[in-house]
Amino acid sequence: MLNYKETIKQLPNKLYKVLKHAGEIGDVLGIKVYVVGGFVRDLILKEKNFDIDLVVEGDGIFFAQKLNEKIKGYINVYDEFGTASIELKNDIIDIVTARSEYYQYPAALPTVKMNSIWHDLYRRDFTINSMAIKLNSLEFGNLLDYFGGLTDIKNRVIRVHHSSSFTDDPTRILRIIRFAGRLNFTIEEKTKQYMQKALEQNMILKISDDRIRKEIIHILEEKSFSNIISIMECYGIFQNIDPNLIIKKDTIKKLHNLETSICEFSKYTRNYIDKNIIKIMHILESFPLDKLSNILTKFVSDKKCILTLIFTLTKKKDVYIKIKNKKLDKYDLYKILEPYSIESLIFYYNDCENYIIKDHIRFYVKNLKDIKIDITGKDLKSLNIKPGPIYAEILNNVLKAKILGEVDDYIDEINYVKKFYNIRKNNIDT
Ligand code: ATP
Repeated sequence: MLNYKETIKQLPNKLYKVLKHAGEIGDVLGIKVYVVGGFVRDLILKEKNFDIDLVVEGDGIFFAQKLNEKIKGYINVYDEFGTASIELKNDIIDIVTARSEYYQYPAALPTVKMNSIWHDLYRRDFTINSMAIKLNSLEFGNLLDYFGGLTDIKNRVIRVHHSSSFTDDPTRILRIIRFAGRLNFTIEEKTKQYMQKALEQNMILKISDDRIRKEIIHILEEKSFSNIISIMECYGIFQNIDPNLIIKKDTIKKLHNLETSICEFSKYTRNYIDKNIIKIMHILESFPLDKLSNILTKFVSDKKCILTLIFTLTKKKDVYIKIKNKKLDKYDLYKILEPYSIESLIFYYNDCENYIIKDHIRFYVKNLKDIKIDITGKDLKSLNIKPGPIYAEILNNVLKAKILGEVDDYIDEINYVKKFYNIRKNNIDT
């Protein structure tokens, strides 16, 4: 039996200790304890993965409480599922009771029942994710590989356990493509056929918006997300989600370049940049505008984000036409781009090839976006200007003057108002 004790010893000490303690507590309680899933896969692949999934053949919750007494994290218990999680400073340890599952109907959430580690591993998605390492002291580090996961890792292939895997849980279609893209593995031939069959049966449509969103977010957060999007397009996944959702080669190219654009813009702004929203904008860039609201719930749930996405995509052509003009003055540029979030602006920048448009967007974000005036209505009041719609007009004129470089600081602004207001007054008086 292969043993990974030495490899585990090379992990950061706090992780090693958690695994050691878990095994020792298992010894005391007389139950078998394993670390499973992605952690084992990545240990073999020598990839960093600090998400520990523990499986115990016994009462998982009681075990978790005992472990937490030792490692002193913050424990969450989920009685109905027989699971618990322990939050440490930067890591989360998930603990489950070994279980098998049966499905009431395809794509339903599984009904859970107790069982042994073999069943627990068999119910997992792919052989490479279905290995366990035993943690009890006497067998610490022993690899349990019932389904050939190690050979599949060596051959760089991803394989499901059985032909109905994708109909049992169609999110596995998105997962397999994510892992293929991330690890640069190929999908085993039979597995590919099962997947294609599930796609023909439109199984993707059976996934709830909530689950599909979660999987899509996982994909967008992968380093190699543009490769994954490209593989998804090859398998026709997007058209399965919606026949109008077509990802062009050009879009993949833009997604490849996106990180560079984000890097460049992050130098010019202190705003947080939500990269996923920009990626979603690109994915939907050719989608019919009048149907956008129907598909967006598969990508985002936040209402504000949905509105931003619709606004950005709908206004794109209009913005490009307006800022294509070489002679645009700074204030006009400011007014055109002011309604757009940093994400929308980076999207426009990365989307468009016209250098005048690109220069204008870059110039706006770098030099204009954060311009604010220092005076407020209070200052206008202390200048004895009667409150009314004129306040907005004056403040806007001060802003314009500031953008055009005619005023610089608070004193300049006050002087500008005095001058501006006098001129108006004279005009009104005459
Ligand atoms: P990542 O590195 O992306 O976190 P992971 O393999 O740890 O990858 P998780 O989503 O955290 O992925 O899932 C943990 C484990 O749970 C997987 O390794 C796999 O064994 C199992 N698993 C997750 N999703 C499914 C699924 N849809 N069907 C079956 N098993 C699953």
